[in-house]
Amino acid sequence: MTERTRIRRLPQKAVDDRAVLYSILDSALVAHVAIVDDGQPYALPIGCARDGDQLLLHGSSASRLFKTLSSGAPCCATITLLDGMVLARSAFESSMHYRSAMILGTATELSGSDKQRALDILTESFLPGRRAELRASTEQELKATSVVALPLAEFSVKVSAGEPDDLPQDKDLPIWAGIVPMVHTFGTPRPAADLAPGIAPPAYLDKWPSGRA
Ligand SMILES: Cc1cc2nc3c(=O)[nH]c(=O)nc-3n(C[C@H](O)[C@H](O)[C@H](O)COP(=O)(O)OP(=O)(O)OC[C@H]3O[C@@H](n4cnc5c(N)ncnc54)[C@H](O)[C@@H]3O)c2cc1C
Repeated sequence: MTERTRIRRLPQKAVDDRAVLYSILDSALVAHVAIVDDGQPYALPIGCARDGDQLLLHGSSASRLFKTLSSGAPCCATITLLDGMVLARSAFESSMHYRSAMILGTATELSGSDKQRALDILTESFLPGRRAELRASTEQELKATSVVALPLAEFSVKVSAGEPDDLPQDKDLPIWAGIVPMVHTFGTPRPAADLAPGIAPPAYLDKWPSGRA
């Protein structure tokens, strides 16, 4: 933790534990990555995967985001897992259960075998079991794709998992209070409209986690 990543607001929700950071990143499919271009901040949702002590991101080589990240510009990646709604007796005290992480730093563009390895990690993280049966990427596809690694060096983790924090005088009000948990699940696989007949859904789909968050 640094002065920039020290949680000031509700510091009791700060978690100074790299293992919790890893578990959040490993459950997440998407990071919101912010850059500043010409004085204007832009925060973009991007698929992400963790590789050891770095966060991998990939996208179009032609995109502003990846051109900016590859140039070594500072960035901020935020990952949010929403776990539920906290229903307090007042709107003010109502809130959300979440696990969130923020990573500050500069990303490094990957090339050659590092890039291919990172792409395999991203694919396997998004679609567990699928990498092995996909055709190899073409040179053109690899050229069109930029892959960057953001070190997990300067980060913060905030976890909200408590009870509704109502004012003492509100606790006797005849209003239901509690937690509504939220789960993130995959639905039943639906074949592509142009799928050739006779191709069954792959067995690994049965093993996909019912919820990743
Ligand atoms: C799903 C969700 C919903 C939220 N809804 C609200 C809301 O409606 N209103 C509201 O005020 N706040 C909300 N928060 C909390 C919000 O993210 C901020 O923590 C809070 O607003 C304090 O902001 P600040 O700039 O004062 O933070 P500070 O504590 O001053 O931030 C200092 C440093 O702490 C770290 N930090 C701050 N917040 C987070 C975080 N969430 N995750 C990881 N690191 C963090 C960063 O490194 C940051 O640089 C929500 C968070 C989540 C995940």
